[in-house]
Amino acid sequence: MTMRKKIVAGNWKMNTTVSEGKQLLQDIIKLLGGTSEPADEVIICPPFTHLYAFKPFLSDTKNIYLGAQNVHTEDSGAYTGEISAIMLKDIGVDYVIIGHSERRQYFKEDDILLRQKVEQALKHGLKVIFCVGETEDEYERNHSEHVVKRQVISALFTLEPDQFQNIIIAYEPVWAIGTGKTATPDYAQKMHSFIRGLVKQRYGEKIAEGTTILYGGSIKPSNAGALFQQPDVDGGLVGGASLDAQSFVEIVKQIS
Ligand code: PEP
Repeated sequence: MTMRKKIVAGNWKMNTTVSEGKQLLQDIIKLLGGTSEPADEVIICPPFTHLYAFKPFLSDTKNIYLGAQNVHTEDSGAYTGEISAIMLKDIGVDYVIIGHSERRQYFKEDDILLRQKVEQALKHGLKVIFCVGETEDEYERNHSEHVVKRQVISALFTLEPDQFQNIIIAYEPVWAIGTGKTATPDYAQKMHSFIRGLVKQRYGEKIAEGTTILYGGSIKPSNAGALFQQPDVDGGLVGGASLDAQSFVEIVKQIS
């Protein structure tokens, strides 16, 4: 019997206008019947421009939350173009994605910066979806565990146990993101179990068993079920398929 939460999060990336996004959100809520079930939580992560406008749509829903896709390391100040954790918290955002491979790759975010972002988010009461995962090259050279271990330890393992309980880890092999190549359920299970083992070494069995570890990388209605059945896969972080209400909700419904 595990007590960890089963969660499906949708990462919309840089897609949809606010009006398109409102429509998509309303379609998702309607198809879900206003509740996250059978998942414990559903998290919608639209662009920054949408977050404030989306909050009222969630007032009558159950366990459907909002997440941002990025956050800055400082509270406020001369950081043109950035958004702070205080601002996100102020408008009722609950989660923030940190460490996504697109931010690591295109915006050169490194382990040290990501640790600062994690600390800043937690300091202001945001929960964190922290993404880790190896590139195709690292995968082919059999470095997956080594890379993921470095990413997890450097950004998360300085946290106190009570802080760590506000972290969701998303394992996203970079070679599977937006490529249509999904990790096999067995491979996902092996990596998730490895990550949970790292958490256990650092924080002990109870916290490790309570940590939600999501899989991400080309999840679709046709492959979600087999992934979610793996004992250490506690849900998914969905990119492309989260932009289609029907597909996204079909994925949520496959949480077991
Ligand atoms: C993601 O960006 O987190 C992701 C998993 O994308 P996709 O589902 O499109 O591979």
